[in-house]
Amino acid sequence: MRGISVVILLGAPGVGKGTVAQYLKDKYNAYHFSTGNLLRNEVEKGSDIGNKVEDTLRSGGLVGDEIVNELVKQNIEKVVSDGSVVVLDGYPRTKNQAIVLDDMLSGKLKEVIRVIEIDVDKECLVARLSKRRVCIKCGNTFGPQDGVTICSCGGKLIKRKDDEESVIRNRLKKYEEDTLPVSRYYADRLVNVSGDGSPVDVVRRVDVILHSLGIEKRR
Ligand code: AMP
Repeated sequence: MRGISVVILLGAPGVGKGTVAQYLKDKYNAYHFSTGNLLRNEVEKGSDIGNKVEDTLRSGGLVGDEIVNELVKQNIEKVVSDGSVVVLDGYPRTKNQAIVLDDMLSGKLKEVIRVIEIDVDKECLVARLSKRRVCIKCGNTFGPQDGVTICSCGGKLIKRKDDEESVIRNRLKKYEEDTLPVSRYYADRLVNVSGDGSPVDVVRRVDVILHSLGIEKRR
């Protein structure tokens, strides 16, 4: 049994977690597991969960741990199998979620959990997020530097409702309040990486780290 590798991407909204996750998905055949995308899908479907979380998503606050943990439990089973690399993007976001995740993974398969925290200056993030566009179909994100008006999957690019400046500032504040304890929780498994520069620069740094940690292409 090879076990599974779980790579947790931490970092404030806009540091480039989605871009890095997309890259890891392609290069390492990893599963990109984004709670933001899962929650937005629920809203789009108009499910019970979607109706419950819609207002929170629009305001930039955090959805309750119980709902998010349950959604992750339901979906992670589908991607966790022997030999897989799973990239968690946007989860865990609170210490409670981190504890629940450890519990979900423990005893199932021998797992290796690595945590990469991407750091970017706050004002740069506000500027970046205001210009960000997301594919309505696959959830890929694009900045002005990509020069893309339509996604390669054919999906239309839109500005997310929570990428308005006031909402962005609220999300950053929430991030500081709720997610910093998560970094502390993972202190012994955490590596910091600078998120400055282009997405290519950032993924190159992440690549070097994963290589040094012995995480390799699977499946
Ligand atoms: P994201 O796409 O990761 O920026 O997430 C978009 C929004 O979904 C966040 O602003 C939260 O409202 C909600 N969300 C995503 N992941 C979580 C999580 N792990 N815990 C609570 N709320 C979340």
